[in-house]
Amino acid sequence: MALGASVGLRPAELIQRKRDGGELAPDELRELVLAYARGEVPDYQMAAFCMAVYFRGLSPAETFALTEAMVGSGETIDLHAAVGRSVVDKHSTGGVGDKTSLAVGPIVAACGVPFGKMSGRGLGHTGGTLDKLESIPGFRVELTVGEFVAQVRDVGLAIIGQTADLVPADKLLYGLRDVTATVDNVSLIASSIMSKKIAAGADAIVLDVKVGDGAFMKTLDDARALAEAMLELGRRADRRVICVLTDMDQPLGRAVGNALEIRETLETLRGAGPEDFSELVLDACAHLLALSDLGVDETEGRRLATAAVQNGSALESYERWITAQGGDPREQALPEAAVVRDIAAPSGGYVGRVGAIAVGTAALRLGAGRRTKEDTIDHAVGIRCLKKRGDRVSPGEPLAEVHAGDEDASERAGEEVLAAFTIVDEPPERRPIVLETIA
Ligand code: URA
Repeated sequence: MALGASVGLRPAELIQRKRDGGELAPDELRELVLAYARGEVPDYQMAAFCMAVYFRGLSPAETFALTEAMVGSGETIDLHAAVGRSVVDKHSTGGVGDKTSLAVGPIVAACGVPFGKMSGRGLGHTGGTLDKLESIPGFRVELTVGEFVAQVRDVGLAIIGQTADLVPADKLLYGLRDVTATVDNVSLIASSIMSKKIAAGADAIVLDVKVGDGAFMKTLDDARALAEAMLELGRRADRRVICVLTDMDQPLGRAVGNALEIRETLETLRGAGPEDFSELVLDACAHLLALSDLGVDETEGRRLATAAVQNGSALESYERWITAQGGDPREQALPEAAVVRDIAAPSGGYVGRVGAIAVGTAALRLGAGRRTKEDTIDHAVGIRCLKKRGDRVSPGEPLAEVHAGDEDASERAGEEVLAAFTIVDEPPERRPIVLETIA
């Protein structure tokens, strides 16, 4: 390997300057990132650089320079030019039971606004949008960029796997951060997320920053800091961006697990979804429609989104989309688990808490998620939380359903799911799903 082969690049000096609290010039950051992506800067130097950033942070200008360099490390898509109008996208920082894009995409498309998203797979207790989509028989997540763009233009909606050429520097850097305890730095997270959003080409983006037990960001203050950093990157990159900070102290909706979440998406598109999930979906749609080229405000956007659910056009849009990507959109085509076990409440009262990580981890052990990138997934298994925080419950009433591959797995998961629930005597304070909106 030709270390430091770029003319004049001295990684050790840059690491030292950042370590000592100095600022790097945009050119220096660009050279460092691009040389790393070309294999000319070794992992040990990049890891030291990330640790220096972890402790010293990056200024807004440095964060943007890092983001631009990452975008420039691979291919970029100009969706606006290819589709001939404004295209919208949505991103979530990840949570348990988060299937929001699967309902938002069809609703927004039904309202006449093209939606194009590149998505990732799940790792650990959070599920991935692509894994959920792959529980639909025949659904293809790996379209070429040409097919992606054509589908956004012709069908109004496509969600596909991130192509290998999109922000390759982030792929390397995120992998390195994952094993060097440098993931949880606001500038690095903001730059990682926004580089992928910018490269994928949408003009307007709603960012859903999850807050709480099951999220990256455990406190509102941390979530606000990440939201502000991403909004600033959006402004500098000339994209229209809005951030919603949303509750991830308990799973979103009821379903956790791939095919179960597709079923819940269908329920929601029929207007019969869980309250928290339906609210978040309509809120995100209202923002996206207001950011789009429709020329409507958020109140009108929400009205249009609600009407698309009520008049069936959102469901038709879902069916068109799934069919266009080779999938069978019928609910009965989805896989079903061999065993469904009810988990009964040991006592009566109110649900005080449903631990998001505990439910996510139980679903992971059932086979709904993967511990390592190589693990395979059982799309049929998962958990349905029949009761959520604040719900009244009688002794023996089912709190949740475990959908498992066999009796042993259902028994083990049942114990874990029961431990995720806290029953209290007094109703807990209600918490809205959308905690804050930052524009
Ligand atoms: N998600 C990303 O894509 N990047 C991060 O750094 C953290 C979460």
